[in-house]
Amino acid sequence: MSARKSEISEALASVESRISKAVLKAGRLRSDVKLIVVTKTFPLTDLEICYELGLREFGENRDQEGSVKALELPSDINWHFQGQIQSNKLKSIATWADVVHSIDNFAHASKLSALSTDLGVSSKEVFIQVSLDTNKSDPSSERGGAWPSELATLTEQILELPSLDLIGLMAVAPLNLSPDLAFEKLFQISSEIRSDFPTVNRISAGMSNDFEAAILHGATHIRIGSQILGLR
Ligand SMILES: *Cc1c(COP(=O)(O)O)cnc(C)c1O
Repeated sequence: MSARKSEISEALASVESRISKAVLKAGRLRSDVKLIVVTKTFPLTDLEICYELGLREFGENRDQEGSVKALELPSDINWHFQGQIQSNKLKSIATWADVVHSIDNFAHASKLSALSTDLGVSSKEVFIQVSLDTNKSDPSSERGGAWPSELATLTEQILELPSLDLIGLMAVAPLNLSPDLAFEKLFQISSEIRSDFPTVNRISAGMSNDFEAAILHGATHIRIGSQILGLR
């Protein structure tokens, strides 16, 4: 085994053991939590190693990068897009991303649905990204996402689009809030949405520094990069 492969393999084992502990503590099942390895900025050789180690859920933030990597790697990988969406990139994103986590407005959703229809895809999985920021006017805390007050309407509208399958909510913990409070808030928002729209029941939350808190608060999709692949 190459040095790099041993390194990634050990890091992955350590993350897996932390996931197992968090799942146990939360009284949940390991199979309820999908691990997405966030491969942005890492070279193809690292992605090949992740594939050899059995990972099949890969996350990317930029279309320019994800589109190239997806072409080079085996087709049984599920590609997740979780970066900020630029409208003019949606057409390309639609061709390679199996799941889009960062939909935060109806215009993008509607465009992605139309593009998916054109591609013959009838149920592109998407999450609505929610902003957990407490201060709307502080640009430094702005990491994208719809405001909780807009969610019910946006959910209802997106559920009517023909080629999208809206499966849940995604969020990134704001810098000025503890992950525990942030993900507790997300779980609460998710519960409200789920009570009106039962199929919108997944939660994409948790990164290298806060995935245990996310698992405790119901995350079904965790997105981990640096803890597996190292610092970018
Ligand atoms: C980069 C990124 C991740 C992974 O971050 P790490 O800290 O490397 O685990 C997860 N989600 C989003 C939205 C990201 O941009």
